[in-house]
Amino acid sequence: MEYYSKQISRLIEEFSKLPGVGAKSAQRLAFHIVNRPIEEVRNLSQAIIEARENVRYCKQCFTLTDSELCPICSNPKRDPKTIMVVENTRDLAAYEKTGKYEGVYHVLHGAISPMLGIGPNDIRLKELMQRLQGEVDEVIIATNSSLEGETTAMYISKLIKPTGIKVSRIASGVPVGGDLEYIDQVTLLRALEGRTEL
Ligand code: ZN
Repeated sequence: MEYYSKQISRLIEEFSKLPGVGAKSAQRLAFHIVNRPIEEVRNLSQAIIEARENVRYCKQCFTLTDSELCPICSNPKRDPKTIMVVENTRDLAAYEKTGKYEGVYHVLHGAISPMLGIGPNDIRLKELMQRLQGEVDEVIIATNSSLEGETTAMYISKLIKPTGIKVSRIASGVPVGGDLEYIDQVTLLRALEGRTEL
């Protein structure tokens, strides 16, 4: 038996396809949407469509951006000879929030996971090696401290070692007390400062 009209059911169904949205949240979102002013809902749907249509990978670091080169790669104040390797754009954003890192990034879009069948060719590793043919002083590996992140870090360091470029790995962060809002940033900065050469 149908509890809701077809269009509300459809909206609930679409919302429930989103990550982290369960059946209850999907219902709440659907009823929220149908109660908002039409203009607000139009803006939301337009933002979703435009982001999907225009966002692409930076041709240099592969982060998500809406221009050919992302704002970091095209910023002349950033040091292009220091490359921090991260798993995804969210990790890049976390380091950017610290405001202390002056180098550039390379976004892998994943990590090597033999268990999930994700190999070196499934992430943007080839592209990183191509970048290293230019002038690079240091590669900082900032993949997660999970098994996949560590596997990826080891794999990358073995690939880079023969090139003579310095490779370092961020320290695993130890959370410090204080304002919750800043814990992540302090942890990230400590991990960056405490990096060790591989
Ligand atoms: Zn970029």
